Amino acid sequence: MRFIFPVLLFFTLLLSWNHQKEVSIDQAMQTAHNILILDSHIDLPYMMRREFIDLSVRRDEGHFDYVRAREGGLNVPFIAAYISPSYEDSSNADEYTHSQIDLIVSFQKKWPDKFMIVKSPEEINQKGITDTVMIVLCIENGTGLEGLVENVEHFYQRGVRYMTLIHSKHNRLGDSSFEEGSRWDGLSPFGEKVVREMNRLGMMVDVSHASDGTFYDIMEISQAPVIATHSACRHFTPGFERNLTDGMIQMIARKGGVVQIPFGSFFIVKDFFKISQEINVQREQFMAEHRVGRRDSATMKFVDSLRTLYSLNPGTLSDVVDHIEHVIKLVGVDHVGLGSDFEGVSMVPEGVEDVSGYPNIIRELMNRGYSDEDIQKICSGNFLRVWSEVRRVAESGRQESHL
Ligand SMILES: [Zn+2]
Repeated sequence: MRFIFPVLLFFTLLLSWNHQKEVSIDQAMQTAHNILILDSHIDLPYMMRREFIDLSVRRDEGHFDYVRAREGGLNVPFIAAYISPSYEDSSNADEYTHSQIDLIVSFQKKWPDKFMIVKSPEEINQKGITDTVMIVLCIENGTGLEGLVENVEHFYQRGVRYMTLIHSKHNRLGDSSFEEGSRWDGLSPFGEKVVREMNRLGMMVDVSHASDGTFYDIMEISQAPVIATHSACRHFTPGFERNLTDGMIQMIARKGGVVQIPFGSFFIVKDFFKISQEINVQREQFMAEHRVGRRDSATMKFVDSLRTLYSLNPGTLSDVVDHIEHVIKLVGVDHVGLGSDFEGVSMVPEGVEDVSGYPNIIRELMNRGYSDEDIQKICSGNFLRVWSEVRRVAESGRQESHL
């Protein structure tokens, strides 16, 4: 009998210890609102090119609006002016890019109490955590340069702070991870000039979407650390060149850069890309046969049935955090962050359906034992450090040229 009390006490303590380990959503929510949350890639303007969307109210569709951003504690979204590769040979790619930038800038004019455009880490730190969402401009696809290196400075002057050099097709700057074969065997001579110009100005170089060859060329040429604004780990998705190999992640870290993990199933689930490509082919055939559009309810129903047929797995929140943790295991906690690719992906796991989901990621990180300091680094600290370093490299280059 005398052993019963200590045994009971032991199990009670064990249970309470286990209970303490599980973090409540309220705790995670509190942390999410006490730290700065930066998301390095949101694809909104492309969705708005035909129809202006009211972002000041909660929307029933899509991933981003002011209300959900504040619920999730999002402070700094990088919103991408995206240029489709179909503009590559067009003479109005530059004009189109500017019109996408105008659209993002208009958020601040339309809803000045909700959005503001910011251009430096100092400005972000000065403003701090408030209910104003601080948008940073970025460009996705160097097609918008129309082959002119001086356009990099024009975009920088407008407030563009990073450029994703390439998208889904090879362009004038270099080869894409999506297109078969090679046009430049990596970065083109023009692409090299662009990287040097971005270094000179202090504009961050984004390696997401680049082919492996282009990636290695960028790493050789860039004087400043580089960023992958929405690329996950190829370790979990073998053969998917859009994601980064362990060796690439290590190279980015050695150069002082950061890998920003996207949330879309497309990036985090094995073979999702192959299956979704097959579904896309069948969807196009269905649309042609039935003369219906992509957003037609018949098309949507057809796609849903294919997703069930192919058992398309959207993945889980835990999968997203596995990618974050894989980078940490490889190179430490100083080189990883969040780059959702919201509004640019069609399927996302439960828990990160939209910009209200960051607290769920924070909760999962807390449950895995990460400290508040680690979480702060992942949520914004690492990216802001890299951005400051890119600016410092540009500044020291300017000083040297005056000597
Ligand atoms: Zn992208």
